[in-house]
Amino acid sequence: MAISKFQIYDYWKDKAITNKFEIKTKSACTEGDDAIPITEFPDEIFCWACQAPPYKQGAHRTLSGLWNRDTLLQRAHILAKSLNGADRPENYFLLCPQCHAESPDTTDAKLFFAWVRYKRLHDNYFAALQRDMKKAAEIMGVDQDAVMERFAALRLTRPEEDAYIRDHIVKNCAMHSSFIAPLSRMMILQKWILDPVEQKKFAAWRSALPAAEPGVKDLA
Ligand SMILES: [Zn+2]
Repeated sequence: MAISKFQIYDYWKDKAITNKFEIKTKSACTEGDDAIPITEFPDEIFCWACQAPPYKQGAHRTLSGLWNRDTLLQRAHILAKSLNGADRPENYFLLCPQCHAESPDTTDAKLFFAWVRYKRLHDNYFAALQRDMKKAAEIMGVDQDAVMERFAALRLTRPEEDAYIRDHIVKNCAMHSSFIAPLSRMMILQKWILDPVEQKKFAAWRSALPAAEPGVKDLA
């Protein structure tokens, strides 16, 4: 039987990566380890390297159901099978498709953990979105500052508006399981911001929204 995602989670849930790229249990880490925990909350799914969240996360009654039915994460070998990596939970890590393709495949597990630490600290999903926002503007030949100004001018404050835009992105990007590559998202987002027809549609939809409930916090 293949090792399940939940078995992998169960092994790693109490572990952290130190600044010397060693694995320790969270409770054994000292301040000097400057350790990064691999997971935070048991029911929170994200890539263990870049921290990309799933686009959709289903509700499940059990924790094992939640992990085993997740469609974002892939089981990545730390030491490849061809390099005699064991088929055991400690030799697997849960990564999004992009990170899985990028992850080091060498004979040295420490290089893998050094890479995970680097992704967490310097090259995570949020950094990728920002970088790809810029890249999308370059590819599309538009002025990024002007796009951002227009986006800010929309003054989005409500979760429904956020959901509307996410929905538009999902409809216009291929989803690899529950993952949409940041560059695709950013290209569609910029196209949406700049498209007068889409903006008219959005404005009409927005004006038909029921008034926000009193006490709803302004998200801006
Ligand atoms: Zn990732």
